[in-house]
Amino acid sequence: MASTSPPTKREDWWFEDGNVVIQAGDRLFKLHMSNLARESDFFKDLSSLPPPTGEAAEGTEKSPLLLHEVEADVFADLLHVLYLRWGQPLTQSTAQLEKVLRAAHRYQFTRVCDIATPQIKGTLETLPELELAIACGSDEWIQGLFATVVLGFDDIAIPSTLSPSVAAKVWKARLKVASYRLRHMTQIGAQTVPYMSPAPGGHIYSIQKICDSHLKLLVNFVPTTWRERLCEAYRAAVPPVDERIYDPSADVPCCTCRDYALVLEELAGSCEEERRIIDEIWRE
Ligand SMILES: [Zn+2]
Repeated sequence: MASTSPPTKREDWWFEDGNVVIQAGDRLFKLHMSNLARESDFFKDLSSLPPPTGEAAEGTEKSPLLLHEVEADVFADLLHVLYLRWGQPLTQSTAQLEKVLRAAHRYQFTRVCDIATPQIKGTLETLPELELAIACGSDEWIQGLFATVVLGFDDIAIPSTLSPSVAAKVWKARLKVASYRLRHMTQIGAQTVPYMSPAPGGHIYSIQKICDSHLKLLVNFVPTTWRERLCEAYRAAVPPVDERIYDPSADVPCCTCRDYALVLEELAGSCEEERRIIDEIWRE
C-alpha cells in the first residue's frame, strides 16, 4: 500500500553539507555522493552520468533518489555498516544483517556485502541460507551449502519455496551421489582382507570386506543417508549379532562387519569425489 504522507527526514542520517537526498521507504537521507560512489558501483555510475535532458536532476530534497525495495531502517543499518570505524563491532542482529546484505547486493555496496556475509554464514537454517547465498552470495558460499543440502538427503527436505531449477539440481545430485556410492560399495565389498583366527595355532584366512548378506542390508541406506547418520542407520538395520548372517562361534567371520564404524566410513566412498560430482551438477 502506498504511503500518502510525504517522506520525512532521518535526522541521524541528515548531513547538512551532504549533496544527495535519497529516499528509502518513507524516510529521507542526506548523504555525500562521493562516499556512496566510492563504496558502490551503482552510485559510481550514477554520479558519472548527467541527468537525462529535460528532466530535473534526482537526488534533491524536492526530487529524492528513490531506492526500490529497501526499507528505511534497512538502509539506515546499511549506512551504519558502511560508516563503521575500524574495529567497531557490528550491533545488528542476523535478521537485520540479512536484509542489509540483500540491499547492499542490490545497490552494489561490495564492502558492506563482504562485512555482512561472514556474520551471517552458519547462523541460518541450511535452506534459507542457500536461498540467501543464491540471491547475493559468492559461488564458494553457494556450493558449500548446496553440497550440505544434497548430502543431507531426506534429513533436509526440499521446500516448495526453493526455485524449481535448484530443487531439480538437488535431486539430480542426490541421485548421482547415490549411484556413485552404490558403485563404490559393491567394489569395496568384493575386496578381501586377511583375517587371523584367534584360536590357538589359528590360521590366516582371506575374508571379504563386506559379505553379500551384509551388502544386501547396507545398499538399502548407505547410498541415501547423511554420513553423520550412517552408524545410526546401520544399528537400526543390523542387529548387534545377527544370527542369520553372523555366527559368533564360527572360526571365521562372514566379513569385517564387526568393525562397522570403520567399514561404513570406507563404504560410502570418498567425500572429495562426492563434492566433485555435486559441484559439477551445480555448475551445469
Ligand atoms: Zn558379513
